[in-house]
Amino acid sequence: MTDSCRKETFLVQIGNRKEEHFRAVSTPIYFSTAFRHEEIGLQDGYDYIRTGNPTRDVLEKAVAELESGEKAFATSSGMAAVQLVFALFEEGSHFIASRDIYGGNYRLFEVFEKKYNFSFTYWDGKDYEELETFIQDNTKAIFIESPTNPLMQTVDLRKISVITKRHEILHIVDNTLYTPYIQRPLEEGADIVVHSATKYLAGHNDLLAGVVISKGKTVNEEFAFLHNSIGAVLSPYDCFSLIRGMKTLALRMRQHENNAKRVVEYLRTHPLVTDVYYPGRSGMLSFEIIDEALVSPFLKALKLFTFAESLGGVESFLTYPITQTHMDIPKEVRESYGLSNCLLRASVGIEHEDDIIADLEQAFEAITQLGVAKF
Ligand SMILES: *Cc1c(COP(=O)(O)O)cnc(C)c1O
Repeated sequence: MTDSCRKETFLVQIGNRKEEHFRAVSTPIYFSTAFRHEEIGLQDGYDYIRTGNPTRDVLEKAVAELESGEKAFATSSGMAAVQLVFALFEEGSHFIASRDIYGGNYRLFEVFEKKYNFSFTYWDGKDYEELETFIQDNTKAIFIESPTNPLMQTVDLRKISVITKRHEILHIVDNTLYTPYIQRPLEEGADIVVHSATKYLAGHNDLLAGVVISKGKTVNEEFAFLHNSIGAVLSPYDCFSLIRGMKTLALRMRQHENNAKRVVEYLRTHPLVTDVYYPGRSGMLSFEIIDEALVSPFLKALKLFTFAESLGGVESFLTYPITQTHMDIPKEVRESYGLSNCLLRASVGIEHEDDIIADLEQAFEAITQLGVAKF
């Protein structure tokens, strides 16, 4: 971020005050897949849509600046962003990744292990000396989610950067849960940031998108080459939708956080809740209820919370990780790090906080009355 304005202002103004695009306030969508050339060798910006597009440019420049990076690459999904990052590495590379990790990332890493002879060591996010001992001759990067998903654990990104710099390996951060509104990993020494922009950045449960942010000439150039060569780029319409969503990011994040903090206070005193996991910022939290048998009736009793598999949208969601987002992580692995069958993950929306708590309250009442809860 530049010092010229605050991030709230920067977000709202994305795409505005440009001399190009007829000074349109809202960024126009350029659907054209091709751009005419005046003559051979005259390069005036665009030629083919996969390589570059004016709508995508506005988005990518804004995201790069927000994350304090130099370049951003908008992709067709968050997973395509992760795939783009790992396209940097050669067969036989080793990586260290967060133990508590988004199930889709874990599933892709398993594919990489089988197909590209990559190997992964998982770190529980606690002991930084232990992390350093995991580094081998062929280790190429440390891939961190902070906060983790679904146990909402944060790590010290600066400490990890010291280690990655000492060993000349890359520090990659999935910043989906905190967003650049809260955390800018590149300022803390990370090299690459990835996002599922489907979540908070877009914010309305109506868009699938990803983004990779980088700095440093070599990595920037490599990504530009791979983004174009692989081709999982974001469509102009989706770039427009993402820009529109991001204009309200600051406003939404403040309300998500305010509501999540209220929900945390409520859950911490509830007799049917045994544990609450909240990283301190943002709108994501997880909690364990006292008995696995209560999970299903509880989910059925909800009237405002939507039982669905995503996060970061304006609507409040509840997810049951072991059958949804994290079902591809084997049971023994999940249990070994505390992802239990009683854990529910909430993406607290921006509805009125009292209505959100009232919904949880009536669902707890309903399961108590059903006689399911004998506590
Ligand atoms: C959802 C998610 C992804 C994958 O993104 P998609 O947009 O669904 O492809 C990656 N990382 C995290 C932390 C996520 O929550």
